[in-house]
Amino acid sequence: MTIATTTSAGLAHHKMLLNGAWIDAAGGARIDVVSPSTGAVFATIPAGDAGDVDRAVGAAKAAFETVWSRTSALDRGRILLKAAQLVQRDHEKLAVIEAMDTGKPMTQARNDMTAVARYFEFYGGAADKLHGDTIPTLDGFTALTIREPWGVTGHIIPWNYPAQMYGRSVGGSLAAGNACVLKPAEDACLSTLALSALLHEAGLPPGVLNIVTGTGEAAGAPLTRHRDIAFISFTGSPEVGAMVQRAAADHHAGVTLELGGKSPQIVFADADLDQVLPVVINAIVQNAGQTCSAGSRLLIERSIYDTFIPKLVERFSAITVGSHEADLSCGALMNPKQKARVEGFVKRAEAQGLPVLARGRIAADAPPGGYFVAPTLFGPVSAQSELGCEEVFGPVLAVIPFEGEAEALAIANATDYGLVAGVWTRDGARQMRLARAIRTGQVFINCYGAGGGIELPFGGVKKSGHGREKGFEALNHFTQTKTIVLKHG
Ligand code: NAP
Ligand code: MG
Repeated sequence: MTIATTTSAGLAHHKMLLNGAWIDAAGGARIDVVSPSTGAVFATIPAGDAGDVDRAVGAAKAAFETVWSRTSALDRGRILLKAAQLVQRDHEKLAVIEAMDTGKPMTQARNDMTAVARYFEFYGGAADKLHGDTIPTLDGFTALTIREPWGVTGHIIPWNYPAQMYGRSVGGSLAAGNACVLKPAEDACLSTLALSALLHEAGLPPGVLNIVTGTGEAAGAPLTRHRDIAFISFTGSPEVGAMVQRAAADHHAGVTLELGGKSPQIVFADADLDQVLPVVINAIVQNAGQTCSAGSRLLIERSIYDTFIPKLVERFSAITVGSHEADLSCGALMNPKQKARVEGFVKRAEAQGLPVLARGRIAADAPPGGYFVAPTLFGPVSAQSELGCEEVFGPVLAVIPFEGEAEALAIANATDYGLVAGVWTRDGARQMRLARAIRTGQVFINCYGAGGGIELPFGGVKKSGHGREKGFEALNHFTQTKTIVLKHG
């Protein structure tokens, strides 16, 4: 299988996946692929459009009806388990692709590939454990439920964690028995193509998974409108998420939306501060803050504010930003638009007079064309300010002081978002009170994002979206329950 050809200038012309074949867009147009670490074009991808989407959905529908719906859950699972091994085999090669394409430091890209292998392993193992119930009902009747795939599912993923999002979304849907059409982000899709080659090497039949690369408008929107797409899994911005849901409503497709957050980390005076510090820093610099579950609001109990801040400042100032190859704690932002967006938040906060407590630095040898910004720590920030409630999607941390549990809870719940929260306290009753009262899809107590979360249902409330990805729970979304009642007397 050829997934790319290389030009004399050394540019890799990647292809997209239709019915098991690697093809160009029918219109022939291409999009440049840029390395965020350098700003240089190093590859191109096909610019797919509505016609390509239609062919991809048609291939998926045919593969579902003829092959995949007749493939046993055991065999579906085995393909994913085999693919997990292949990801481990090609781990370093895949990590290099991801780091080059997204600008994330190599260590983070390697962690992402470990996570993808784990998604395939988890969903491969789960495929034949997704069973229904028998339900006690009237005498002389037997009622049971089975979980059926939707048919063809559409997947639209963003550029921040392409490989991981692919693993959780496509992995779960294939395990549940659906055929898939994926539209990755035009800015970062190379790992999704390489991973798809591995799924085919593992035995995935042609047509069961198709990829249309291209822009959101030209390729994403037609996918959401396509009448043979029965369910859409979307991760990205709240604005596009709302458009996806509207388009899905027109043809009665199901939707899961994962739309980002403004997640609070709440640190009480009795917390173990040595444990807190490295975790809260990592939660905002990981992937240069371009993480939906980034811990972007740091709520500190006022009684420890003056002792905690100097320690935080010392660590924050040591953050160094550089290319993916330099493998520092923080890499480049995704594209010039994202860089300008983050710089805009920083400039507006400074103009409002919010104090800058610390800045990380950009490494002296960082390539001049890279999309780097210095991580910035602001505090004290008011909970109602733009920085206190809007998602920056960059390495900018807002410190918000609070007085007591009631105020901490009020601030934590004061944004439109509700994805994840961290609670740092030794008080067991307070841990559970807050875990129950905070309006988010996940709460971590004395840890944050622990264990990579493959097994943990993930998703938001309010503007963070609805439905759940990851874990076994995602399989409920990727299927529908059928109830069968038999009268036997
Ligand atoms: P976005 O526009 O929502 O993009 C997410 C995905 O949707 C991409 O694959 C995108 O394709 C596609 N898309 C765009 N317009 C579409 C449309 N009309 N119909 C169907 N699909 C469409 O997000 P972004 O522009 O990458 O980032 C903007 C902001 O969203 C960020 O600053 C951040 O706040 C948030 N965000 C959140 C997450 C998250 O994990 N929750 C991830 C990324 C971004 P193209 O990119 O190819 O156009
Ligand atoms: Mg790129």
